[in-house]
Amino acid sequence: MGVAVSFYFSFRVLSPVRGVIKAVEEYRRARGLKEEPRQRRDEMVELSSSVEGLLSEVSHMLDHLEHKANTDPLTGLRNRRWLFEQAALVFDRARRETSSVAVAIFDIDHFKQFNDRYGHQAGDRVLFTVAEMAQMNVRTYDLLARIGGEEFCIVMPNVTRQQAAHAMERLRLAIEAARIDDLDVGRVTASFGLCVGFPGQEGLKTMLMEADRALYSSKAEGRNRVSICAHRSQAMS
Ligand code: GH3
Ligand code: MG
Ligand code: MG
Repeated sequence: MGVAVSFYFSFRVLSPVRGVIKAVEEYRRARGLKEEPRQRRDEMVELSSSVEGLLSEVSHMLDHLEHKANTDPLTGLRNRRWLFEQAALVFDRARRETSSVAVAIFDIDHFKQFNDRYGHQAGDRVLFTVAEMAQMNVRTYDLLARIGGEEFCIVMPNVTRQQAAHAMERLRLAIEAARIDDLDVGRVTASFGLCVGFPGQEGLKTMLMEADRALYSSKAEGRNRVSICAHRSQAMS
């Protein structure tokens, strides 16, 4: 009787377990995953460690895919999708804490002419350099993204109009002063639109539209400047 039970157990339970272990380990070997040394070897321990290994691999793959889905491959900045997701959290928090949010959009001036004159690759280097300048000029908790071809957006939680305007003016000057590697040309400039407020119902989409109108004013007034919407402040240049 005892032998029969043990035979049955081995056949009905362990055999499928061995099958699962084999399949999981085949998969891990094919993906080049390292085997962890084990103290005890029996089917259940092997199964659980194989499954753990597989789960950790799947979780790394998901992280990698998520990063790819949220990142602009040319500049390494985050993209529009990521910005909207993260901004929703920033806006929720600002509503809860009655704090301000600033939204800035900036766009490289006469970039089409630049591409036509120096080539698309040189244009790509400009985008990369501008992205670097932006990265160096934002705070760690600001959200920065490339949201279009030569358009970038910065969401700044908890800043006054003056602080936000000052930060964007500093970035404008940094872009103007930047040297583009290997290009004898020189320089590029960017125009900014800035909107600062205490969000009620509105979210990023509405503030971005307002900031875009301010950006349009910067372009119309001669480019290479920061225009501020909301209380219709003077443009800074
Ligand atoms: P404005 O000062 O009014 O913004 O003029 P602009 O020429 O910058 O604006 P426009 O919208 O006419 O042209 C944008 C250009 O940006 C056109 C396109 O070739 C260029 N562009 C968009 N994405 C990329 C990119 O990924 N790489 C390069 N090199 N150029 C790009
Ligand atoms: Mg544009
Ligand atoms: Mg442009």
